[in-house]
Amino acid sequence: MRLDKLFTTVGLLSRREAAIAVRRGEITVDGVTARRADMQIDPLTATVTLRGEPIVYREFVYLWLNKPAGYVSATEDSRLPVVTELVPEEYRRLSLFPCGRLDRDTVGLMLLTNDGALSHALLAPRRGVPKVYRFRVDAPLPEGAEERLAEGMVLGEVRCRPAVLTADGDRMGGSVLLTEGKYHEVKRMMAALSAPITFLERYSFAGIPLPPELPRGACRPVSEGELATLRSAAGLADKEPD
Ligand code: URA
Repeated sequence: MRLDKLFTTVGLLSRREAAIAVRRGEITVDGVTARRADMQIDPLTATVTLRGEPIVYREFVYLWLNKPAGYVSATEDSRLPVVTELVPEEYRRLSLFPCGRLDRDTVGLMLLTNDGALSHALLAPRRGVPKVYRFRVDAPLPEGAEERLAEGMVLGEVRCRPAVLTADGDRMGGSVLLTEGKYHEVKRMMAALSAPITFLERYSFAGIPLPPELPRGACRPVSEGELATLRSAAGLADKEPD
């Protein structure tokens, strides 16, 4: 792979910026200052640094977004702002898209990636990847709500998978764990319990919690450990060598 391609693939520099960084002597390959942006490297074995920082090569980019309200879970919309507008500048040209959808007024944890295979596998219903939502309602959750979700609620024609409801002490909110992602599922469940949702936040995805340090509207890269968890949840975990 060309050295400048490594930087465009991980989203750190454009080809032009990589050429400038090489000219300024800001890039090293295996401890030696790079002289050409088109030099060939093996991205899996070469140790590449930019301004002294090692570059971790990944074929795809994965970001966590703490989605704010008001954004549509899409890459474009003719009228409304979309979540990919919140992607930092250096990742903009990498065609990231949201893995699954949150409603426009739902906030919280969302994976943005350009890895179609991982995204597809994470969303496959048979995988049953867990998602936890925190919510508030404007009428108390009725007695027996936990059992109704645990049995699998029927919403019109649709039977939901069993879900785990944990109510707050005042029963004016709580958390719900789902293993699927039907349209407006949490809102429709709570509406069916006569407890309409006033606030909904996705708090965890595949067992990974919303990073506490991540402000609403901000993105940060998925860590190596988190990516391994996502791949395992998607059934794509790397095989252990024999
Ligand atoms: N359930 C909903 O009702 N809305 C969301 O955005 C996610 C889950």
